[in-house]
Amino acid sequence: KSAVFPVKKMLEEFDFEFQSSIDKKVIEDLATLRFVHNAENIVLLGPPGVGKSHLAIALGIEAAKAGISVYFTNTGNLIDRLKIADREGILEKKIRDLMKFKVLIIDEIGYLPFDEEGAHCLFQLISRRYEKSSVILTSNKSYGEWGEIFKDHVIAAAVLDRLLHHCTTINIKGESYRLKERKKQGIKT
Ligand code: ADP
Repeated sequence: KSAVFPVKKMLEEFDFEFQSSIDKKVIEDLATLRFVHNAENIVLLGPPGVGKSHLAIALGIEAAKAGISVYFTNTGNLIDRLKIADREGILEKKIRDLMKFKVLIIDEIGYLPFDEEGAHCLFQLISRRYEKSSVILTSNKSYGEWGEIFKDHVIAAAVLDRLLHHCTTINIKGESYRLKERKKQGIKT
C-alpha cells in the first residue's frame, strides 16, 4: 500500500532538542503504532512552524511502512470534497470510502473557519471513525478556540467529545523552526 504525502518527513529528522515542549518518549510510544490498533487519535496543537505537520507525516510514514493504509489530506480540500459529496447525496459513501484507511491525517484545521455545511460534514466523518479508525489532526487553534472554527459551539463540542475520548494531544510551544533556520543563516527577520 502506498500513501501519498505532500513532503517526506521522517521521525529521525525531527530535532527534539530544539522542540523541548515535546516529550520524545510520547512520540516514540506513538511510533509503536499501538494507537492505530486501538483506533485512537492524535491531535497536534501549536503555532505555525513548530513541527505539527512534520510529526503527523512522520507518524503516517511509520504506519505506512508497517503496511497500514494511511490517507493524508489538508482540511480545506477534505471539506470541499465532503461538501460536494453531500450535495450529490453521497456523503455517507464518501465517508465509508475513507474508512478504508486505518489512519486519516487531517492537516491544518483552524486556518479557515467552516461554514455550517462544512462543520456538519466534518462532524459526520469524525463520528463515523470514532472507536473504529484513527485520525491524526493538526491545528493552530487551542481546543477552546474550536467553537470559532466551527462557528458553532455545540457542534465543536460534539466533535471534540468524540475526538478526545481516546486521544493523545501534543501541545507544541515555542518558536517556528523556519524562523530558527533563517536566523542561523543570518537573515534578518
Ligand atoms: P507546522 O505544521 O507546525 O506549521 P511544520 O511541521 O510544517 O510546521 O514545520 C515547518 C518546517 O520546519 C518543516 O520543514 C519541518 O520539517 C521543520 N521542522 C519543524 N520543527 C522541526 C524540528 N523540531 N526538527 C526538525 N525540523 C523541524
